[in-house]
Amino acid sequence: MTTSRYAATAADLAELVADLGLPTYRGRQIHEALWTQRIPLDAATALPADLRRHLDEALPTALDLAVESRSTDDRTVKWLWRAARDGAQIETVLMEYPDRATVCVSSQAGCAMACTFCATGQAGFERHLDRGEIVEQVVRAAHASSRRVSNVVFMGMGEPLANYDEVWAAVERIHGDLGISARQITISTVGVVPGMRRLAAERLPVTLAVSLHAPDDPGRSALVPLNDRYPIREVLRAAREVAGSHGRRVTFEYACIADVNDTDAHADALADLLTPLGPHFTHVNLIPLNPTAGFPTRGSERVRVLDFAARLRTRGIAATVRRNRGTDIDGACGQLRSRVALGRAGTAD
Ligand code: SAH
Repeated sequence: MTTSRYAATAADLAELVADLGLPTYRGRQIHEALWTQRIPLDAATALPADLRRHLDEALPTALDLAVESRSTDDRTVKWLWRAARDGAQIETVLMEYPDRATVCVSSQAGCAMACTFCATGQAGFERHLDRGEIVEQVVRAAHASSRRVSNVVFMGMGEPLANYDEVWAAVERIHGDLGISARQITISTVGVVPGMRRLAAERLPVTLAVSLHAPDDPGRSALVPLNDRYPIREVLRAAREVAGSHGRRVTFEYACIADVNDTDAHADALADLLTPLGPHFTHVNLIPLNPTAGFPTRGSERVRVLDFAARLRTRGIAATVRRNRGTDIDGACGQLRSRVALGRAGTAD
C-alpha cells in the first residue's frame, strides 16, 4: 500500500529522497514545507518542479474534497471529505477566533457508540480512520486558515478512544511534527474507560474531555448507551486518573436538552457528583443540544443554560457555555454528512 502524504514520517521522506538519488537536504526541505510551514506541496516552490510532481504521485493525499461550507461571518469552515482509499465520508471543522484557530477532527467514519442525540451515532459505524487521514484533516484546515492553527480537538465524527492506536499516532505527529502543544490537543470521549487509562499512562499531557450529559446512570444510559458498560462512577475514576497524571483539568461536556437533563435538580446532582473530584480538576462545558433528524427533543433555551451554569458556579464548579459555532452550516457532529445523504446540500464533484 502507498503511504499517504501525512502518514509518511521524516524517515520515510529521507528514504524516498535517497531512492531518487537526491541529496539528503531535500528530505529535510520536504518535511519543512509540509509540516513546519504547513503549505500545500504545489506551493513548496523551494523544491524543483519535477520533484514536486514525483512526490504528488508517490505520496498521494488521503482526502478528496466533497463539500466546503462557510458560515456567513466566514470564521467557521466545514469540510466534507471523501477518503481516497474507499470513498468513506469524513468531516472537519475550522473555527477561527481573535486569539487562536481550532480544528475539530474526525477519528472514525461513522461511530459505533449510538448516542441517541448525535447525528453520527444515528448513522452507525463505517470504519476507523488511519493516522494519515486524521493528521491530514489538521493540515488541510491549516492551509485554509488565516491564522496559525493552535488547537486540535477530537470532537468530530467517531469515538477517538475506540481507535486508540491510530489516534495516538496522529497526536504524536500533530505534537512532534506540526508543533502543536500537547495541552492544546483535546481528546473527547464518551467514556471508554480502558482508553482513558491508557491515556493516563502516556507521556504527552493532552487535555481530556468527557461527554457526560447526565448526572445519574439511568439518565445517562438513555442518552449514551455505553454507560451500561462503563457507568458514571468508573468513568469519573478514570477521568481523575488522567487529570492526576497530566496535571490538567478535565472538561465535562454536557449537551442541555429541554426538560431531559437541564433542571435545577440536575444541576445540583451534577455538582454533587463532581465536587469530590476537586475544583482544580473539573470544568463543565455546557452546549445547547443541536437538533438532529433522529432525536425528537429540543435543546434548552439559552437562558436556561446560563442559569444551569450559574447554579454550578455557586457550588464551586467551573462552568462555561459553549458558543454554538457554525449551526448555520450544520456544525454539529455528523450533521453535514447526514444532510448530504438526504440530498439537501450540493457536492463539488
Ligand atoms: N465520541 C466523542 C467525540 C465526538 S462528539 C465524544 O462523544 O465525546 C463531540 C461532542 O459533541 C460530544 O460531547 C457529543 O456528545 C456532542 N454532540 C454530539 N451530537 C450533538 C448534538 N446534536 N448537540 C450537541 N452536542 C452534540
